[in-house]
Amino acid sequence: MGVDPESLIRPLLRNVHGYVPGEQPKIKGLIKLNTNENPYPPAPAVLKAIRHATDGRLRLYPNPTAEPLRARLAKFHRCAPENLIVGNGSDELLALAVRAFVEPAELSASKKSRSTVQFFEPSYSLYPVLADIHGAAKNPVPLSKDFTLPDTEESPKLWDSRAALTFVTSPNAPSGRGYFTSVLEGLCLKQEGIVVLDEAYVDFADENALELALRYPHVLVARTFSKAYSLCFLRVGYFVGHPTLIAALHKIRDSYNVNGLGQIAAETTLDELSYYRRNFKRILATRARLTKALTDLGFVVLTSQTNFLLAKPPKLPASAWLEALREKKILVRWFPYAAVKDYLRITVGTDNDADALIRAARKILAQ
Ligand SMILES: *Cc1c(COP(=O)(O)O)cnc(C)c1O
Repeated sequence: MGVDPESLIRPLLRNVHGYVPGEQPKIKGLIKLNTNENPYPPAPAVLKAIRHATDGRLRLYPNPTAEPLRARLAKFHRCAPENLIVGNGSDELLALAVRAFVEPAELSASKKSRSTVQFFEPSYSLYPVLADIHGAAKNPVPLSKDFTLPDTEESPKLWDSRAALTFVTSPNAPSGRGYFTSVLEGLCLKQEGIVVLDEAYVDFADENALELALRYPHVLVARTFSKAYSLCFLRVGYFVGHPTLIAALHKIRDSYNVNGLGQIAAETTLDELSYYRRNFKRILATRARLTKALTDLGFVVLTSQTNFLLAKPPKLPASAWLEALREKKILVRWFPYAAVKDYLRITVGTDNDADALIRAARKILAQ
C-alpha cells in the first residue's frame, strides 16, 4: 500500500523554506569568515571546566532550569533569576517567543496584529522562518537605504504598533549598524505588543539596551554566549525580561533544554570576563584596521558595531568576489537578497586573517 508521506505532513509546512545556516566546511587551511564566530578560543579555565566535567556524570540529567547559571547571570545583570531563561542557544528562545506570544492562525482582519511577527529588513533571516513555521503573519519593514531605522511615524502604514511580536536585531545583522538605546526606547514605547531586542553582537558595540528589559514589562533582551564568548559549539543563550513573560517561556520549553556542559562552560565564562574583554578589544582593533584597508582598496564598508563588516566590493559583483575569495581559501558570506546582494558580510577574525584577506583582495583586483 503506497501512502504518500508528503500527504502526512501538515499542509502549513509544505511551503516553508527552512533557515539556511552558513557553511561549516572542513577544508584544510580555510580561513572561515562566514558565520561570525569568535576567532579566539574560550578562556583556558572554561576548557578546563568542560574537561573536568567530562566523566561518568555525563549519564545524569543536567539542571533542568539552569539554576546555577541563572543565579550567576542575575548577579551579573543586577536582576533576579526570575528575570532569566536560558536556552539551547538564543535561537531556541526566539522560537519559543513566537510560540508563546503569537496566535498562529490569522484571526479576523481587525485582530490580525495578534498573529503578526514584525521585523526590519534586512535583519536576522531566522525571524521570517519562525513566523512561517508557526503559521503567523509576517510584517517585514524595510530599513532605509543606508540601513538606518526608518521613521516609523512617517511610515505608519508599514509599521504595526500592535504587532504581537517585534524582533529588532541590535546591533543589526547583516548591516553591522548599531542603534542608540534612546532610539530603541522610543520604538519600544510605541509598541503595544512584545519587543525582543536581539543583542547577539552587543559586546562589540558602544551601547546596550539591557536596562529596557528591566524597565518595561513588554521588552525582552536576547543574549548569547555564542559569538562574543566563543561557545557556538555548546549552544547557550538567554532572555532577560519581566518575570511573567519569562514564566510563560519556561512553561513551554523542553524540560532539559540546556545541555550540562554548556551550563558549566557558561558559568565559568562569567568568572573569566577580563579574558573576553581583552579579546573584544583585539577584535575591535582588527575591525578598524580591516575597515581602513578594504576602504583603501575601493570597498564601501559600513561602520560596524559588531564582529563583522558589511562591505560592497569594487569592480566585480559580490557573488563573483565570494567565489574568487573561496578559490583563495577564504570563506565569507553573501546573501542573494535584493537589499544586500551587492555586499559581502565578512567576519572580523584575527589580524592574520585580516592580512590574508587583504592580500587576496589585492590579487583579485590585479587579475
Ligand atoms: C548568531 C545569532 C543568533 C543565534 O545565537 P545562538 O545563541 O547561537 O543561537 C541570534 N541572533 C542573531 C542576530 C545572531 O546573529
